[in-house]
Amino acid sequence: MKLIGKVAIVTGSGRGIGKAIAKKFASEGASVVVNALHIEGASRVVGEIKNQGGIAIAIKADVANRADIHNLIKSTLENFKTIHILVNNAGIIRRVPLLEITEEDWDVVLDVDLKGVFNCTQAVLGHMMEQRYGKIINISSMSGVGFPGEGMANYAAAKAGIIQLTKATASEAGSYGINVNCIAPGLIVTEMTYFQRTKEEAERYIEGAKKRAALGCVGGPEDIANLALFLASDDSNFITGQVICCDGGIHR
Ligand code: NAD
Repeated sequence: MKLIGKVAIVTGSGRGIGKAIAKKFASEGASVVVNALHIEGASRVVGEIKNQGGIAIAIKADVANRADIHNLIKSTLENFKTIHILVNNAGIIRRVPLLEITEEDWDVVLDVDLKGVFNCTQAVLGHMMEQRYGKIINISSMSGVGFPGEGMANYAAAKAGIIQLTKATASEAGSYGINVNCIAPGLIVTEMTYFQRTKEEAERYIEGAKKRAALGCVGGPEDIANLALFLASDDSNFITGQVICCDGGIHR
């Protein structure tokens, strides 16, 4: 077990990739804070972790809201006394052609996907610096690395911003024994894949992604959870400020 005695917060872990990360960390011995916008999803994941003998609590918080994040960190410290690992996973997408993006479409995506990472990182960093230990893992996207698809301007801008925020945080936190890295997933089939798409459109998109990937397939949440575990564990102690594409070889 690679995370015995560790405390981890995984944002947006009521379903999808975050849920897989939370369950993976718990199965490796971590005490996990399952954060979500809605308590029902988070509580369900906590139930699954507990059924498997793990330790977890659910905390509702909107990553875009600084007061919520202050409370998320405070409640985590009250429950578990410390925080070793933060996974900034919460994210949303709104696929809109550039000319049709409203100010609201722009703001909501940037607020959750980019400001949310800043909010959580800033809220936890002082504590990690004091204890001179921390692992921060940010979830970007292939849309933040390469050429994004149509209707992705707001999402791609936020996800690209996460990459530079990762490097900036790694620079400032490195001398305190804190590793900060970023995962850029390719197509991972989750509810997000089907959001704003018909079933047929989603299936066409999945087939297209398979053709673009060197490995000829798309990923599942477990693929990201395995990499997150490596970055959260002491196996990655000499790695910081990096972006790792976990995309079956789309970017090559
Ligand atoms: P998902 O929609 O299944 O899950 C996203 C989670 O984030 C949900 O649990 C949701 O409740 C939570 N969330 C949304 N807004 C929030 C907020 N304001 N505060 C707290 N939680 C909030 O999506 P997913 O596919 O599991 O995506 C997880 C992350 O991976 C996202 O950051 C996404 O951008 C990124 N990503 C996904 C893919 C993919 O193909 N699925 C590819 C690249 C990157």
